[in-house]
Amino acid sequence: MKTFQDIFNQSPEIEASAPGRVNLLGEHTDYNDGFVLPTAIPQKTTVQLGYSHDEQHHFYSAELDEKVSIAKNELPPQGFASYIFGCIDLLEKARYSVPPLNLYVTSSVPMGSGLSSSAALEVSTLRGLKLLLNLPIDDVQIAQIAQLAEINYAGVQCGIMDQMASSLADRYSMLFLDTRTLDRQILPFPKNAEIVIIDSGVPRTLAGSGYNKRRAECEEAARILGVKALRDISNPEIVESLPEPLRRRARHVVTEDNRVLEAIQGISPQRFGELMNASHASLRDDYEVSVPALDTLVGILQATPGVFGARLTGAGFGGACVALVEEGRGGAIAPSTLESYNQAGHTGKILVPQLN
Ligand code: ADP
Ligand code: MG
Repeated sequence: MKTFQDIFNQSPEIEASAPGRVNLLGEHTDYNDGFVLPTAIPQKTTVQLGYSHDEQHHFYSAELDEKVSIAKNELPPQGFASYIFGCIDLLEKARYSVPPLNLYVTSSVPMGSGLSSSAALEVSTLRGLKLLLNLPIDDVQIAQIAQLAEINYAGVQCGIMDQMASSLADRYSMLFLDTRTLDRQILPFPKNAEIVIIDSGVPRTLAGSGYNKRRAECEEAARILGVKALRDISNPEIVESLPEPLRRRARHVVTEDNRVLEAIQGISPQRFGELMNASHASLRDDYEVSVPALDTLVGILQATPGVFGARLTGAGFGGACVALVEEGRGGAIAPSTLESYNQAGHTGKILVPQLN
């Protein structure tokens, strides 16, 4: 793999990192002003920065082996440079002056598996810029700038969860976040438990169109019920008056918010696992964002001794599953799950724990 030195013929001035994240509970709730419960994963993105001496920005991704060079105020072609340029341009719009840069990025967060490589790229870039330029921005501001960069420059209509998780969460606790107020709490993991993450190997081809459709359905349901967002409903019975499919869509969001609110009460890992299982059933039956391969993978996990619970994680339509398992058993459960899953004709991949 090429280094900063190989690409730019100089040493970097600084280096900064940010992790990917996995959402334990609270799926499709963030654009409904609701509650989420992510944690950081061991995989991270690292950015190295130096000064460029030709009045241009140069961005290089080691994973893509791709370099993009642009004049200081030029919009880059749509791609990985959009996320980086978005962060720089938003800082400039906030009146921080950013000199021409050499920026090198490398990452162990898989791209497009729902573990938020995009937020890790934005947050590591902003952390690097903060360090290099001594900027007075805090972790929440970093998350907010990162989200705006993704929406306005990469063209992805994302909520704030991914960026808040990458900027504020750590691997050893859960980040409870109220996506409306940004009120948050760092909470201990369920006792004697650890997580396993397995990629289903199914590309999220329908994710974009399916996501937009579900967003529109939720907005319509909130409008009919006369609330600002579905977060404003806590009693699931209220959604029963809605026409289908809005009734089931809203039921998922309301019950999912309630599951997150229960999960932050210091419950047992067994109960936490039951909530994850219920979340998967709700995503599959009411929200209809699962696919057969994800159901197979989750089913294998749920039937495995030592697993408290499992669910698809991320927007669905493919991507990864997360399970809560007994502490110390992830290293055995993950490979045995993968073997059964692959025997069923799939090609999955273990993401956590990181096994050599
Ligand atoms: P996810 O965030 O779930 O991994 P996204 O589709 O939101 O999936 O983001 C993936 C995109 O982010 C990639 O297509 C690429 O443009 C950008 N990206 C993330 N990490 C890197 C990296 N290390 N190098 C280049 N681009 C990256
Ligand atoms: Mg993303």
